[in-house]
Formats: sequence, C-alpha cells, structure tokens
Amino acid sequence: MGDVVDVLIIGSGASGAAVAWSLAETKMRIVCLEQGDWVKPTEYPSNGRDWEARLFGDFATSPNVRQRPADYPINDDNSPIKVVNFNGVGGSTIMYTGHYPRLHPSDFRVRTLDGVADDWPIDYATLEPFFAENDRMMGVSGLAGDPAYPAKQPPMPPVPLGKTGTRWGKAMNSLGWHWWPSDTTLATTEYEGRAKCINLGHCTPGCAQGAKASTDITYWPHAIRAGVELRTNCRVREIVTNQNGMASGVVYFDADGKEMFQAAEVVVLACNGIGTPRLLLNSASGRFPHGLANSSGLVGRNLMFHPYIQVYGYADEPLDGNQGPPLCIWSHEFYETDPARDFVRGYMFQFSRGIGAITEAITSAAAGRIPWGDGHHDAYRALFNRRLSLSAVIEDLPEEHNRVTLDPVLTDSHGIPAPKVDYTIGENSRKMIAHGIARAKDILTAAGATNIDMQNPIHFGGWHLLGTARMGTDPERSVVNEWGRCHDVRNLFIVDGSIFVTAGAVNPTSTIQALALYIADQMKRRLATLFD
Ligand SMILES: Cc1cc2nc3c(=O)[nH]c(=O)nc-3n(C[C@H](O)[C@H](O)[C@H](O)COP(=O)(O)OP(=O)(O)OC[C@H]3O[C@@H](n4cnc5c(N)ncnc54)[C@H](O)[C@@H]3O)c2cc1C
Ligand code: SF4
Repeated sequence: MGDVVDVLIIGSGASGAAVAWSLAETKMRIVCLEQGDWVKPTEYPSNGRDWEARLFGDFATSPNVRQRPADYPINDDNSPIKVVNFNGVGGSTIMYTGHYPRLHPSDFRVRTLDGVADDWPIDYATLEPFFAENDRMMGVSGLAGDPAYPAKQPPMPPVPLGKTGTRWGKAMNSLGWHWWPSDTTLATTEYEGRAKCINLGHCTPGCAQGAKASTDITYWPHAIRAGVELRTNCRVREIVTNQNGMASGVVYFDADGKEMFQAAEVVVLACNGIGTPRLLLNSASGRFPHGLANSSGLVGRNLMFHPYIQVYGYADEPLDGNQGPPLCIWSHEFYETDPARDFVRGYMFQFSRGIGAITEAITSAAAGRIPWGDGHHDAYRALFNRRLSLSAVIEDLPEEHNRVTLDPVLTDSHGIPAPKVDYTIGENSRKMIAHGIARAKDILTAAGATNIDMQNPIHFGGWHLLGTARMGTDPERSVVNEWGRCHDVRNLFIVDGSIFVTAGAVNPTSTIQALALYIADQMKRRLATLFD
C-alpha cells in the first residue's frame, strides 16, 4: 500500500479501540491493523451446552492452548503464571470478565508514599475525566459512594448480589471489613443498543447476549462510522524507521499472507504488555540495534502480572452456582500500605460466584474431594453449586528481571520471532500473598465455608500484562513520556498496559482505556506539532 495514512494503530483491543474512536473526530485518515478477525456472537461458547469443554479448546484463555490462526505462541515456561489473552477485534476484552475497578489515587505516588518503584508522571485527577468518558462509552454498572474511591457515578445500577453475594456481604459485615458492589462492564439495563444481562453466566469467554462490553461492540462501531478503517487478519512484523529516526510505517502480512508496507505519519502501538515489547524488539535496525525506542534498555522489562491467589470453600446450601456474572463484589480493606504489616502496598479481594459443573468435577476429583465408588455422587452433590471463591489481586512491584524478550527459536505462523517471558514472584509479593491467604480464610470461615482449598498462584492467571514500556519523564528510566510518546521516536506512541509505571492491585482495563483516551486527547491538543 503506497499511500500514507495519518495515524496507523496496531491492535484493536481495549486501548486500540479507545484511541481510534477518540482520534476519529479529527477527520485524519486513521487505519488500524489487527492480526485477528471479528468474532461473531453466535460463535461464543455461551450459546451451547458444551461451553465448558470449549474453554479447553477454541476458547481456551491461553494462546498456546487455543492455537487459533490469529494467535502467536508465547514461551512462558520460565514463569509460574501463564499468559492469557485474546487476539481478534476487541482484543482481550472478548475474553475478559468485565470486572472494572480503577487504580487508586495512591497508586500513582508509590515512591513518595512508600519509597518503592517510581511515581507516575501523571495522577488520578488527570485521568478522572477520561475514566468518566470511558465509563460512558463502555457502559459501566456499579453503585456510587464507595469509600475506597473519590466520588464517581457509574451509568448503570450494579450487578445484583444474588445468594452468593449476599452471603459474602454478611460475612464481611461480621468482620467489619470494607466491601462494595463491583463496577463491571456488564449491562444491567439496556444500554446504547446493548441488551441487558440475562444471567447466562459465562461472561469470560464472550457474552452472546451482548451485555458484556467488549470493544468490538462498544468503541468500534462508533469509530468505524466516524471513518476509521479497521483491517483485520493483518499481522504487523515490524515498525520501519526513516533516515531521521522517525517511524515511517509498518511491514505486515495481509489476510492472504502477502507481505505489505503501510506508510504512516504517526504510529500508535496497542498490542498489550506482551505484544508491544515483542513488536518493538522485532523492529531492531542498524540505528536501533537493541529494538525500537529502547535506548533505556527498558523495553520488555518490569513485567507485572498481579499474582492471583484464589481461595475457596463450600457452603452448606446451594448458592448461585454459575448463574449470573461471576464477579459481583470487591473489598479494598487491605489495599493501602499499613506500617504494621511486613510488606508495602496491598491487594484487593474480588469475590466470585460458583463455577461450572465440569470444572467442579475436574478440580474436586483432582483435589481428592470426590472419591470413586460408594459416595461418589453424594460427595459431588455436596459440592455442586455451593462453591464460595475469592481471589486476592496482589500488587507486584516492577522488577527489571521480570521481562519479555524474543525467543531464539519459537516463531508464529508468519515466521516472526515469538515472545519469551521470564518472571518470578517477588519477596514483597510473597509476604502479601501469605497475608491474603490468611485473611481469605478468615472471610470464608465467617461465610460458613468448609473444605477450604486454594490455587496459589492461579496457573493460567497472566491476564494483566503491564509495565514493559513504562511511562516517565526521564528518557533513561522510561520508554514513553508523560503523554505516551516514545522518547526515542517522536511519532511513535504506546497506549496499552505496557506503559504502566506500577501495577496497583486492581484489574487494569478501566485505567488502560482512560490512559488511551488521555493520550489521544494530548495528541489532539498537539496536532500542529505531531507530524514534526
Ligand atoms: C481471561 C481474561 C480475563 C480478564 N478479566 C479482566 C477483568 O475482569 N477486568 C479487567 O480489567 N481486565 C481483565 N482482563 C485483562 C484485559 O482483557 C486487558 O487488560 C485488556 O484487554 C488489555 O488491553 P490492551 O489494549 O492493552 O490489549 P488487548 O486488549 O490484548 O489488545 C491487543 C490487540 O493487539 C493485537 N495485536 C498484537 N500484536 C499484533 C501485531 N503484531 N499485529 C497486529 N495486531 C496485533 C491483538 O490481536 C489484540 O487484538 C482479562 C483478560 C483475560 C484474557
Ligand atoms: S452473565 Fe450476563 S454478561 Fe455474563 S455472559 Fe451472561 S448475559 Fe452476558
């Protein structure tokens, strides 16, 4: 393709969609290249009774298990936490659960407050209008007044607590600990053409009802109507630079596998915390021998996952089981630093409903809760639909040895080097995990649960991909500046989770999208100099 587009966005997920929609009002020529395709709601597992089986096949959360044509392999052998994602229009929002907390104001100031990691170059107040705009665009349900946050007003009422949530709430009340109905992106009323949740109950692998806000049904229809061109099945191999060290465009493989070049004035990376450093490292050249935008050496470093600790038990009566959105309440009781504890920062609890019949059978059989022979069915009945499960979302601090590099051997179906992940759980996180497990057991006991067990960490729990191209004002200690522009390449921007300075202890997508809208706004304010 010989013509030059004004803005070329790579990746159509949470952040790529938001930035495309926001920039569309400029009437610039904007193209987004996405390596996957549109996913039809009729394809979602929630249409069929085999939905759980498909979680081990074409809707597995791990790309290494799923192996769709759009997926690229990830060598995560050297990590106790395996990477999960989705590659297609909507990106990982196709597969996310829609739990939608924001970072706390304190998360932007951890060096000042706790003497660890670094402060962000921006603060919560800077992002506040973009959080609100994004809540409107994604359609957030929740309850105003949560004391854990500055005031905010979700546009829809919260997901109902149900039997399970009510039990959790009573347990937390008996302990005197904070809990609140979660903000989620699951529509509880009809919202901008989206139908409301009908409790199909398997939100994670796509919502056939359209109640869950994945960006293919929120931002993208608006962006496309406003003139953005979204090219699917187009995988970018590398970003090309010119003699001035500016990005001049990208080389990609089109839907027929043909190698193409797309010239662009500005390139925006939105490939997530693994895909973005992979692409920057794959874009090494004579001028940028260690990868593009990598003079700091920090591209791929400081990977943060949020180790997830899941602790669960069983109630003495049937609860909601798998009916309804899986996550309905959160607790920020242990979120902020407490000098009485042996670690800094903290964690959030997210409380779940139950799991599906097959998953209960498989996990409980493996854990020895269901004997073979006599009593097999009775034992299963005593567990089925009675699971109470909560997870501690652990804030892991940035550590340079946790990183994404290029695998020397592994490639994707186009022969492009695949990413390799090296990650260990840090000392501060380990202490936090021990604390979280003890408190989770207190909560389960207060909720009357027995047979308590856990997964530490959740094996396929690498859903939050953060920190691998961090933001900052110092080019020696960061990859992008305070408005998302690469220090080394003035017309290259990054808008996905890679730019997080610290991880906080919440699911990150609300903050990722608010950041993408903020960066788009900064780009619009600087339009006159953007192409210099
Ligand atoms: C199972 C699961 C559950 C989750 N639950 C939650 C939750 O409840 N709450 C929450 O906040 N977050 C959750 N997440 C995380 C959430 O989905 C991500 O934080 C979010 O989608 C990240 O946005 P992003 O824009 O950075 O990347 P993504 O949404 O992952 O989008 C990246 C896009 O870039 C494309 N791409 C990558 N490389 C290339 C290339 N070379 N060429 C072309 N295209 C490319 C990919 O195909 C993909 O579509 C969950 C994720 C998973 C997998
Ligand atoms: S529980 Fe609601 S939001 Fe989740 S998949 Fe079912 S209908 Fe969709």
